[in-house]
Amino acid sequence: MSPASDPAQIEAVRLRMVELGFHVDLARSGDRPILCGSGIDELQSYDHLRQLRGWSSVDDVVFSQPSTKFLGKSPQTIDLGGGVVVGGSAIVIFAGPCTVESETQLFETAEAVSRSGASVLRGGAYKPSTSPYSFRGMGLPGLELLAQAGKRFGLKVITEVMDPRKVDLVAKYADILQIGARNMQNYDLLHEVGKISKPVLLKRGLSARYEEWLMAAEHIALAGNERIILCERGVRSFETGTRNMLDLAAVPVMKALAQLPVIVDPSQGTGKRELVTPMSLAAIAAGADGLIVEVHANPDQAVKDGAQSLSPDQFESLVPQVQAVARAVGRSVLVPTKV
Ligand code: PEP
Ligand code: MN
Repeated sequence: MSPASDPAQIEAVRLRMVELGFHVDLARSGDRPILCGSGIDELQSYDHLRQLRGWSSVDDVVFSQPSTKFLGKSPQTIDLGGGVVVGGSAIVIFAGPCTVESETQLFETAEAVSRSGASVLRGGAYKPSTSPYSFRGMGLPGLELLAQAGKRFGLKVITEVMDPRKVDLVAKYADILQIGARNMQNYDLLHEVGKISKPVLLKRGLSARYEEWLMAAEHIALAGNERIILCERGVRSFETGTRNMLDLAAVPVMKALAQLPVIVDPSQGTGKRELVTPMSLAAIAAGADGLIVEVHANPDQAVKDGAQSLSPDQFESLVPQVQAVARAVGRSVLVPTKV
């Protein structure tokens, strides 16, 4: 309560809290009255309690429990099957083109990344694009190609879902569903992916704070799916020298807050191919559980994001460097067992 609040105002707030079901004790700190509610779950009355912040006699409403019920309790690892575990001691490498363009493009790229040490094949079949005139993805044929390439080269498959109505369809083809940065706060979409059993990669929103990102993940968990991997992909900033500002402090912060695996996307994170290797190494040093890297069989011909895509040769030379840093921080890189 505000120190200036009178007994009638204190009583009004106390009665409101009792009405909400709380047992209420009155305490004092110096000249400040404090009403302490207990006995029921605060998060059940979340909106009603926050409403009290607008009462003129109330200085603040402070919750005693963390803002999440599901996340942040104990460290989670995500088992994708076939020996691919994200969040364990081994670092998992996801790689592939920004966008699925054709069978040849995807298969050549998949073959190359598989040979060099990737465990998961990435590729967009449904692409969010700023311009409506930019390629928006192959759609269903792209999903089919991803599943085929994954099978052929022994890779798990990740692809983005943008439409809540397509969650079941995408889940039929993909091993992990990616929620893109632009959709981090699309709560209907978060609830839909919360209803499936496949893991979800939740990218950080373009301007999302840690707490907002955590809450987005909690939406998925509350809907029923706790198999979530977080992905730092850079945020908007004043800097124009890189496409986004890759926030590597997010890695240890979010691992501690959410207790979920965190991977890093140095491709969207920098927008520049020559920055992908140094930032990948820095990400591993910061504790990332994996990398998601854009690789294209022929980056100069890539329909999307060629400037930030590695060639197969560049990717091949990245992997041993990642291994060296992983070893230095007491970890390893997952060596996929190809069938
Ligand atoms: C992508 O992975 O190609 C992509 C569009 O990512 P983001 O949602 O992080 O921009
Ligand atoms: Mn991209």
